[in-house]
Amino acid sequence: MAPAAAATEVEVDAWAARDTSGHLSPFTFSRRATGPGDVKFKILFCGVCHSDLHQIHNDWGNSTYPMVPGHEMVGEVTEVGSEVKAFKVGEIVGVGCLVNSCQTCDPCTQHLEQYCGKKVWTYNDKDYDGTITQGGYSTIMVCRQEFVLKMPTNLPLDAAAPLLCAGITVYSPMKHFQMDVAGKHFGVVGLGGLGHMAVKFGKAFGMTVTVFSTSPSKEKEARELLGADRFIASKDPEQMKAAAGSIDYIIDTVSAAHPLDLYLSTLKLDGKLVMVGIPEKPLSIHAFSLTSARRYVGGSGIGGIKETQEMLDFCGEHNITCLIEKIPISYVNTAMERLGKSDVKYRFVIDIANSLKSED
Ligand code: NAP
Ligand code: ZN
Repeated sequence: MAPAAAATEVEVDAWAARDTSGHLSPFTFSRRATGPGDVKFKILFCGVCHSDLHQIHNDWGNSTYPMVPGHEMVGEVTEVGSEVKAFKVGEIVGVGCLVNSCQTCDPCTQHLEQYCGKKVWTYNDKDYDGTITQGGYSTIMVCRQEFVLKMPTNLPLDAAAPLLCAGITVYSPMKHFQMDVAGKHFGVVGLGGLGHMAVKFGKAFGMTVTVFSTSPSKEKEARELLGADRFIASKDPEQMKAAAGSIDYIIDTVSAAHPLDLYLSTLKLDGKLVMVGIPEKPLSIHAFSLTSARRYVGGSGIGGIKETQEMLDFCGEHNITCLIEKIPISYVNTAMERLGKSDVKYRFVIDIANSLKSED
């Protein structure tokens, strides 16, 4: 006899990449029946992260196809399993980059599921039941309750969706590496999805914020819309030289390979640079850039679920959202092309509910 759950598996409409060309097109797949500990929701919006672009093109060498990207999804709960007490039908929730982890290892018990050796990514991964995970460029999500976030009720959902990756990926290292001290000088390299959120958090924490950008056209908005105090066109050697030794800590969000020495030279004694961007090629650093001023280079990956909820609540309290370009799913291939050219202000968000049909 077939297991009862099979009868309630749900057919999901989505867009998927089929090969390393990364071209996305309509695709249908099944999500599991809502288990006792699961939350099922109708996806309303999903952000487009540069990691989606890296992965549809197999930049990191681990892509499997067909692949439905998307790890910044928000939606409305339509069903909860019998053991779920914390979420109710009709509630607005979100899922970020993770859908499972062992819950027992050192990182998991410290609420750092992103560093669990058995974590499961929201897409392009295999879940514990053997199914291939698929992301938020789709109509319906089913997720283990421990990985479901509560969205702040006062924020517009489309502009809040990218907090689930872009937001937490910069918030977490700012907290962990103590790069959140009011009055300090904070530098943000790359003004894209992650970078513009780092500027917003930097200002919310009371810091002086410098943006390093390869796109001089972003200066006006960086200052006027995001509140950046200083804008440095990073391709201009004079501007870079003038900034030498002026910054306490830098967060580097750049998606392509780039030399770090010039940015390190802008750090003060004991300055820190934390990488969150993940270029496909290795980065180069001259040891002098570190030894000459006892500087430090670190890295950070997304954030744990508890901290992601804290970040969402902080954004709710401080009215922090992302600047977005809302698009229908039919625009997603163009959006990917533009994202590859740093041409987005500052996050594409797909209006899933109004452009992909849902069966449920
Ligand atoms: P994005 O919106 O494309 O922003 C990246 C920015 O980097 C661009 O807007 C551009 O800013 C700058 N840039 C691009 N190419 C450059 C180059 N060749 N040299 C110098 N600067 C360049 O991307 P995102 O979604 O913010 O993601 C950024 C990176 O973080 C990606 O590699 C992504 O995979 C990674 N990521 C990491 C984590 C994590 O857990 N660590 C989580 C999410 C994403 P300007 O125009 O201002 O120069
Ligand atoms: Zn992401």
